[in-house]
Amino acid sequence: MTAPFLDKEEIRPSDRLVLMQGEQVLMSGEDYLWKGSDAATVPGIEGAILVEDGDERLLVTDLPEQASLPAGIEPVSMRGLLFRSEQALLTAGKANQYLHWIRSHRHCGYCGIQTIASDNELALICRQCGHHFFPRINPCVIMLVVRGREILLARNARTRSGFYSCLAGFIEAGESAEQAVQREVREECSLEVANLRYFKSQSWPFPSQLMLGFYADYVGGEIIPEEAEIEEAGWFDVDDLPQVPSAKISIAGELIEHYAEQVRNGRF
Ligand SMILES: [Zn+2]
Repeated sequence: MTAPFLDKEEIRPSDRLVLMQGEQVLMSGEDYLWKGSDAATVPGIEGAILVEDGDERLLVTDLPEQASLPAGIEPVSMRGLLFRSEQALLTAGKANQYLHWIRSHRHCGYCGIQTIASDNELALICRQCGHHFFPRINPCVIMLVVRGREILLARNARTRSGFYSCLAGFIEAGESAEQAVQREVREECSLEVANLRYFKSQSWPFPSQLMLGFYADYVGGEIIPEEAEIEEAGWFDVDDLPQVPSAKISIAGELIEHYAEQVRNGRF
C-alpha cells in the first residue's frame, strides 16, 4: 500500500483533490474536486492524505487558516456541500471524515504527547507510549417503526429543521444493534417494538457515523416523546406523510419510501 500521508511532491497530476480550509470546502467553479495538477496554483498546500488509492487517487488536504486564496476560489460549508448530491456525500464526506480524525487525534489520549503520521499505514502514532490511532467510525441505529399502513415519525427537538424522520441513536458500548433499536424506541417514544428487520447501512459523515437501518414492528405502548430529543412524534399513513427527508440522499428517506411502496403494493 502507498504511504497514506503524502508530501506535496507526491501529488500526481491525475489525482482528485478535495481542498479544505477549516470547515469550508474550496470550490473550483461549481466543482469541489480539483486535479492534482492544480495543486501548484494553490498556496499553502504542504501535503495530502490518501483517501482512496487507484488510477485516479482521491486525496484531501487541509490549508492553513491564514493561507490567502487566489481569486475565483469560493469557500462553501462542507455541510452545505454534502447535501447537494449523493456523490458529494460519498466523496467529500469521506475526505472530511479523514480530516476530522486527524484534527481530533493530534495528541495521544493516553499520555498527551503529540502524535506523528505513520510511514506505512493510515494511523497516527504516539512516539512516547507507542499507541496507534486509526480512523474511527461511530455506529448508530436508525429505525422505522411500523404499524400496518402507519409509520412512526418524529421531529428532532435540536435540529428544528421542520422535517419528520425516523428515530435514530448511537449504539452504546456493550450493546448489539438490535438492543440499541429497542432501547432507543423505548427511550425516545416510550414504545415497544419487535420483529426487527435489517434494511441497509449508510455512511453519514456528520462527522463519522455509520447508520444501520432497521424496520421494527410496533407491539405496544402509547407515544410519550422524550422532551430533550423529540419535539413531536406521531403515526402517519404512508399515503399522507408530512415533509420527510429525501430518499436520494438519506437512509431515513429510503426506509420511508421503500416501506410506503411495499404498502401500496399490498406487501407488508
Ligand atoms: Zn502516548
